[in-house]
Amino acid sequence: LQELNKTEYPIPVDLQSNVAITSLSSVYNWGRRNSMWPMLFGLACCAIEMIATASSRFDFSRFGMEVMRATPRQSDLMIVSGTVTKKMIVPIVRLYNQMPEPKYVLAMGACASGGGPFKEGYNVVSGVDKYLPVDVYVPGCPPTPQALMYGLIALQKKIDGQSLAVGDDVPWYGVGPADPTP
Ligand code: SF4
Repeated sequence: LQELNKTEYPIPVDLQSNVAITSLSSVYNWGRRNSMWPMLFGLACCAIEMIATASSRFDFSRFGMEVMRATPRQSDLMIVSGTVTKKMIVPIVRLYNQMPEPKYVLAMGACASGGGPFKEGYNVVSGVDKYLPVDVYVPGCPPTPQALMYGLIALQKKIDGQSLAVGDDVPWYGVGPADPTP
């Protein structure tokens, strides 16, 4: 404001304490990161810790996430919480493709991040990132609710760094991954 006041068109004195200047990206990101709607689904034991994170003791509604949606079309965050089997990866990718942009994926736990204790199994995918772009990995078997919240804060910081400018790193209308062959 001080710089503006040095120009030919200074801000009137009675308005000077009522003017804030920011960027459109900052306002947009602020709204988006504080109102993420995770998709309501879980795959295995890690999902129990995710449920605990949503309950009153940890309460991730403090991050604007209390509205867990039971449809991908109203979700912008997929928390992959549990073991990803080769049979389940097909509907998981399909659900991801049905989410609107911009959307994010959080791999919760050792199984979702890399196969975990079942990595060598004939029926388990060794990490959901083989099929989906993962934004945040949360280690643990299972991760604690505190760890999941740390991962959610890391995701918020990532969103803060994104831009609406042309050429940014957000695939706003990108084509999703093809459904894996069952
Ligand atoms: Fe279960 Fe551990 Fe795998 Fe989580 S990481 S789904 S707790 S085996």
